Amino acid sequence: MAKLKKGTRCTVCKSKGEKTKAVVFLPHHRLALCREHFIQWFEKRVEKTVKEFRMFSRKDRILVAVSGGKDSLALWNALVKLGYEADGFYIDLGIDQYSQGSKELAYSFSEKIGRTLHIVSLKEQIAPIPVIDKATDRPACSACGTVKRYYMNRYAKQLGYSIIATGHNLDDEVAVLFGNTLRWEIDYLKRQYPVLKEEKGFIKKVKPLCKITEKESALYAFFNNIEYIEYECPFSEGASSIEYKEFLSKLEEKHPGTKLQFYLNFLKKMYPILKEHESKQAEEVKTCVICGEPSFSDICSFCRLKQKVEKVTDTN
Ligand code: AMP
Ligand code: ZN
Ligand code: ZN
Repeated sequence: MAKLKKGTRCTVCKSKGEKTKAVVFLPHHRLALCREHFIQWFEKRVEKTVKEFRMFSRKDRILVAVSGGKDSLALWNALVKLGYEADGFYIDLGIDQYSQGSKELAYSFSEKIGRTLHIVSLKEQIAPIPVIDKATDRPACSACGTVKRYYMNRYAKQLGYSIIATGHNLDDEVAVLFGNTLRWEIDYLKRQYPVLKEEKGFIKKVKPLCKITEKESALYAFFNNIEYIEYECPFSEGASSIEYKEFLSKLEEKHPGTKLQFYLNFLKKMYPILKEHESKQAEEVKTCVICGEPSFSDICSFCRLKQKVEKVTDTN
């Protein structure tokens, strides 16, 4: 976050004739804010994003996918404060201390805000991530993503929620967008929208923090005394998305607003073209012959992964 010059006053307070000191400077919005007005700014921005992309209303039951990190806990806090019916869903990935620590933080946060946290353990359902990782040649993050998407969708339906909200922030979205653009991954690019509509067994998925940076969500968590897991998942080490994030942050430092413009212009100018292309060659949603969940092939990617895991665990 850009440095705040000593003695800078809060922009909002100043407009009301008050002289409160600013504690945050958001250069790409040209705003200096005090704690109270930063919290207000953050929540308004989330609410505006929810409305702009027609994500959900106060009548919907929302399941927030909570990792124990700053983004998903900040999101859950903001949604509940804004009056939405939002419960949490935590997937215990079985990654030693990382999972233990994040689960405890997610659980104590749910108690603090008085909302339900549903917990699913991979160890009980299929196998912990370190075992799954050994069963596949793909990077751990990719198998982990398959498993997380599968359980989020399946449990949201089972538990009677109509929306899944994840804590993906602007930095996440821009890093993925950048990587997919470098490789011109059209099939991934055309799915990179903050809302994935409900479709034949797939529940609606939304990303209400898509216009909030990583630093902004960390600050929101800090100002609200939200305790979150600070270290990254050990399996994500060396992931290319982390390199892209570092590179893009350097660019952002020199040219504030670059990330937001890259993302917003993609949504405004490129996404409609890709979507047009998609509707002409829409992939057919089938039903997985093994688990009955929606799939783009006869056996869903989760069940294919599960078969590989069973081969490894059977031989041990
Ligand atoms: P990540 O892929 O770790 O950057 O996480 C992106 C989003 O996925 C988070 O903000 C959460 O909403 C969700 N998520 C990640 N890990 C978990 C988990 N173990 N349980 C539930 N949701 C998760
Ligand atoms: Zn203020
Ligand atoms: Zn399946």
